[in-house]
Amino acid sequence: MSEPTSPQGGDADAGLGRQPTATGHEPSATGDEPEAPQHEVVVVGAGVAGLVIANDLARRGYDVLVLEARDHVGGIVARHELAGLALDAGAESFAVRGGAVAELAEQLGLGDDLVDPEPGGAWLRLADRSVPLPKRTLLGIPSVPLAQDVIAVLGWRGALRAYLDRLMPVLKVGKDERLGPLVERRMGTAVLERLVAPISGGVYSSNARDLDVAVVAPGLNEAMTRAGSLSGGVALRIGDGARPGSAVRGIRGGMHRLPEALRAEVERRATIVTDATVDHLERTDVGWSVQAGERRWTTSALVVATPGAPAATLLASAGIDVETAPATTVELVTLVLPHLDGAPARSGALVAEDAGIAAKALTHATAKWGWLADAAADRSVLRVSYGRAGEAPATAELADADAIALARRDASAILGIAVPEPIAADRVRWEQAQPSSSVGARALQRRVRDAVAGEPTLEVVGAWIAGTGLAQVVPDAREAALRIRRERFGPRDETADAADEDAAEA
Ligand SMILES: Cc1cc2nc3c(=O)[nH]c(=O)nc-3n(C[C@H](O)[C@H](O)[C@H](O)COP(=O)(O)OP(=O)(O)OC[C@H]3O[C@@H](n4cnc5c(N)ncnc54)[C@H](O)[C@@H]3O)c2cc1C
Repeated sequence: MSEPTSPQGGDADAGLGRQPTATGHEPSATGDEPEAPQHEVVVVGAGVAGLVIANDLARRGYDVLVLEARDHVGGIVARHELAGLALDAGAESFAVRGGAVAELAEQLGLGDDLVDPEPGGAWLRLADRSVPLPKRTLLGIPSVPLAQDVIAVLGWRGALRAYLDRLMPVLKVGKDERLGPLVERRMGTAVLERLVAPISGGVYSSNARDLDVAVVAPGLNEAMTRAGSLSGGVALRIGDGARPGSAVRGIRGGMHRLPEALRAEVERRATIVTDATVDHLERTDVGWSVQAGERRWTTSALVVATPGAPAATLLASAGIDVETAPATTVELVTLVLPHLDGAPARSGALVAEDAGIAAKALTHATAKWGWLADAAADRSVLRVSYGRAGEAPATAELADADAIALARRDASAILGIAVPEPIAADRVRWEQAQPSSSVGARALQRRVRDAVAGEPTLEVVGAWIAGTGLAQVVPDAREAALRIRRERFGPRDETADAADEDAAEA
């Protein structure tokens, strides 16, 4: 397996105590050695959330230190190399909604490298056949139940049942918390099982019946009430965009260029210490003491930017108790193959649970991204993902070679061709990968925010509290940076160019 699993409890190990710190001191937790270096802000965790907040503060002249458990930054937005190709090992695109990720990329000089996926769109692998993912949908819920591409998935009977949604009395439209029951009640079981469930499993690693509408489709309940039907509400939410699924973009060369650019920018003004697993926090008279094994730093303001489980452990060490929802584990098998002739010219597939295939989704990366097809030349790249809601990934107990063999078989079943022996392959495990989007998750996030709001020198950021995906993580981290500047430190003469002011302030 090429990626370390969760860094939690990991590597506060031999050697760390000997490494010089950001300021070159050899601080220690004991009183006889030099004082721990003092910073204005310490950020724990250098995933995208931590790097964004560090960058926003450092470029305005704040003295920032970032501590990261792994030997590289970026968290889930990671890079791996296979057969000489630099590939994304985790996130490989971003949702365009809100515009925050594109704005950040532009600010980092990556604007010219923002790319759209190839137009093929994704398809659904159902138990009996493969069909294109209908175009005008939100999480698989069709806005036009009798559209040809919807009928192709549901059959006439299912589509007519879905159309009943348009005729149901407005009075029956109310606020529904759970996505699955809402869809089933309004549009029938076929829409739930054939359209919504594969997307819920593939995108959120969750059962549609547990997903919180307010989390995965913010504004849908309100739009539904306005439109008088679920399909009408979907139409209002997606506007006239006719893209299949939700609109995403990528970065030429891979999403991992985003944290790489952030790292370069942060390091112009601040320090990032890798291989530093923070294991203890403590309040001090002037803020916080932050400890990673034998090393210790002090800071006026503290940002915890780790996934939920390590964040809860760290906060508990400072006497702040928060709950976290269980997060799923996801495994991704990447196959670099001789060029795949005869594969559908589509970007990937979501797999229905009853299709008899262990994988939950497949991305045909070279069909999805033009830049990658060019780089791969006469090769194809597939990413096969495992780990449905509430279940360990089917690959979890397998040796790498067996996991790769399973991915090859699954890819053959999904694509409907015999996938040849790979030129190169690997398997990456992401623990704490998908924070819960189930009912209750939002209330839990609110409780964490409330607990932290009472701590004037503490911020908690990251997907577990902001929601899964860069489109949620980035703006949330920028808002936290703004709070730190405005509320923790008060007005000051900041050094960033006025012209460079960021989105969070707009
Ligand atoms: C396989 C996969 C594919 C995905 N694809 C997409 C996609 O295409 N588009 C999209 O928008 N989103 C995608 N996501 C979700 C997205 O990647 C995440 O929501 C986002 O990257 C989370 O960022 P983060 O900074 O909150 O957390 P992370 O990326 O998890 O970063 C947290 C960091 O904290 C560090 N850390 C943990 N404990 C400690 C400690 N004790 N001390 C110091 N450091 C610590 C970790 O090492 C890590 O670097 C995907 C997720 C997965 C798992």
